[in-house]
Amino acid sequence: MIYADNAATTRMSKEAIEAMLPFMDKIYGNPSSPYSFGQEAKRALEDARSRIAFCIGAEAKEITFTSGGSESCNQAILSAARYGALKGKKHIITTAFEHHCVLNTLARLKKEGFEVTYLDVHNTGLITPGQVLEALREDTCLVTIMYANNEIGTIEPISEIGAALEGRDVIFHTDAVQAAGHLNIDVKKEKIDMLSLSAHKFRGPKGTGILYARRDIPLEPVITGGSQERGKRAGTENVAGICGMARALEISVSGIDAEALYLTALRDRLIAGLDKIPASMLNGDRFLRLPSNANFSFEGIRGESLLMLLDSKGILASAGSACTSGSLEPSHVLLAIGRSREAASGSLRLTLGEDITEDDIDYVISAVTDSVSYLRNMTLG
Ligand SMILES: *Cc1c(COP(=O)(O)O)cnc(C)c1O
Repeated sequence: MIYADNAATTRMSKEAIEAMLPFMDKIYGNPSSPYSFGQEAKRALEDARSRIAFCIGAEAKEITFTSGGSESCNQAILSAARYGALKGKKHIITTAFEHHCVLNTLARLKKEGFEVTYLDVHNTGLITPGQVLEALREDTCLVTIMYANNEIGTIEPISEIGAALEGRDVIFHTDAVQAAGHLNIDVKKEKIDMLSLSAHKFRGPKGTGILYARRDIPLEPVITGGSQERGKRAGTENVAGICGMARALEISVSGIDAEALYLTALRDRLIAGLDKIPASMLNGDRFLRLPSNANFSFEGIRGESLLMLLDSKGILASAGSACTSGSLEPSHVLLAIGRSREAASGSLRLTLGEDITEDDIDYVISAVTDSVSYLRNMTLG
């Protein structure tokens, strides 16, 4: 089996699994319990917090643990919106090709009287700091733009946007779920005020995430209850998951440069191979893209049919994002970069992991080439 769907989720690293085990078995105390058995878990939790903060250039107290990328994005956006509303600021800037955990949270806020500007996305998936500044208003409280797109892999100019917004009374949040562990992130250098991460996208466990919020930004709890996470997120902490997440992040951050070299070469081999298929189109920027991502549209076929054929050949990929597949609506990301509904429906996303080989890539190229021509002949005949 060739797993080429690492943007949907990743296999946990051995080190991350090992880091979790003690907290399910030996050190299972509740970190809120005052006795030393609980406090041992508490110490592990706080150690994980410091190490995670270090990986992204933040301070430990700026890190809140959540259940994943969706919850982090929800909380970041709702908090920034509430904070803005206190000052009478109810305008938000975003892009049309964000993840649904951002778009649907903004849709909720619109019902509460917030105004949202969706920036046009260039046909390679790029937006510019100039576009952000142009859309900025007196009453803008939040700019939320993803670090790298989950479908087409385009990397946004986050530090340039951060610099452009510096010194203005507006919060800059980025959904960095696809970037973590693949690109170097430094929230202070890049002037990022809030940032969301999810462990299962960087070889950590599912159901664990991180919300970074600059020290002076008040977080509004989304889950209310006890006073865990300094009152910002109630509920007994997922100690094992958090310890696994910290280890997974450290491992992937320490291997970023090697991974980028390795995967970029394989990705470009894959792109060069798929480029040769007649009436094929690369989606996303050719260079400013995640080392792991290749996304193509093939004229005259349906992505779902292609996926099934590839599955039968032992290749696991995606026709857009996992959350939208299953529905027959074409990808909102591909529509946002100006692809026709037809081209958007005939798309294939391959996202590579560190265990993929050159032979795998060559096999994928020939399998996709054969499958596309098979499907096209079928519709003709
Ligand atoms: C996967 C993903 C999310 C959601 O993360 P979960 O931990 O699965 O909730 C959010 N944004 C992007 C860009 C993603 O790829």
